[in-house]
Amino acid sequence: MSKKGFIYAILKDNLKTLQMSIEKGTFPRTERTVWPSEASVTLGPVSEGECKRALYYRYTGTPPSNPMSLIGRSICDTGKLIEVDQILKYKGMGMFYSDQESIKYDIPGSEKKPIHHSGKIDTLIKFKDQIHGIEIKTIGTYKIDSIFGTDTKLGLPSPSNIMQAILYKYYFSKVEKGKNVQVNDVYLLYIDRGTGRSKYFKIDIDNDGYPIITPIDGAGNEKTPIRTIDYPSYNDFLEGKEKSTDELGRIAGVRICTQDIFDKYISVFNQVDNKTLPSKDYNLKYTQEEIDKELLLGRITARKHKMAKNGTKVYGDVRCQGCAYQKLCLEAEGIIFQKPEEVINLHEVEDIWKLL
Ligand code: SF4
Repeated sequence: MSKKGFIYAILKDNLKTLQMSIEKGTFPRTERTVWPSEASVTLGPVSEGECKRALYYRYTGTPPSNPMSLIGRSICDTGKLIEVDQILKYKGMGMFYSDQESIKYDIPGSEKKPIHHSGKIDTLIKFKDQIHGIEIKTIGTYKIDSIFGTDTKLGLPSPSNIMQAILYKYYFSKVEKGKNVQVNDVYLLYIDRGTGRSKYFKIDIDNDGYPIITPIDGAGNEKTPIRTIDYPSYNDFLEGKEKSTDELGRIAGVRICTQDIFDKYISVFNQVDNKTLPSKDYNLKYTQEEIDKELLLGRITARKHKMAKNGTKVYGDVRCQGCAYQKLCLEAEGIIFQKPEEVINLHEVEDIWKLL
């Protein structure tokens, strides 16, 4: 038997911390509280954000069938370190105002059986007498082009991050307690975990609750705001009113009404109350029809569509690939769990546990 040294001790400690974080995150939501990272919405024929079935499992305290992996944990921890470093930079420049500003309000429309929104924006800064809220996101290099943009591609925040930002903007602009904080603007700040490059977007909401996204260039100049309500929706593509492109497809994915997020929280809690497992929002593996729909909506490129159609590659929703309830969900569909290597990410923690 080989002699195990400090590296084995580190692995055991990491696994213990991981196990504790999984157990801490598994409890029924008796207080009917939702977190902004759980926001989701239905946009015509597709969903964005957290899956309602995964939320049902989480709100009922169901233990994950596919717990977070060591790699997942380590990515989150690295992200937190980068956030702390960024806040130190604001402090060093004398801009820091406060951190972890609590954002609590009851979800509009849930008055009969209130659902409480509970979030914290990463930091507030103050510059020339104006207070700004900053939500910091760290991303892998593979996401850089779609978020930072290129010479030919429009950079856009992800739908989940947009939802989080508009839920915060709603608090600071529509909720009395939030208005008193006197936050002028909410920003999403993206930092590339690989290179440290950063990009800001200012996020507003219009009178109907749809996001207005203003990209900021590297020199701090605000570019033309994208009023998402002015762009076609996925339904417009589906009904043939507009033809999708990669850019229009991505804008349709962030054309999200704030009240629709609230309504989806309410509908998930109704299903929790009725003990009814919601239908799936996503697909581990697209059928041929779904692949065609993804192309029609501008959500995959013609190249990927071709590879999916001729069987060279298998595509599905990324949400399912990293879902903590993947096996349970498949079983609920009557599928006996067999690992289709091409689409399911192996949670390496299971294998490591077997070795200990
Ligand atoms: S595997 Fe996919 S559809 Fe099933 S609960 Fe998870 S995200 Fe939802």
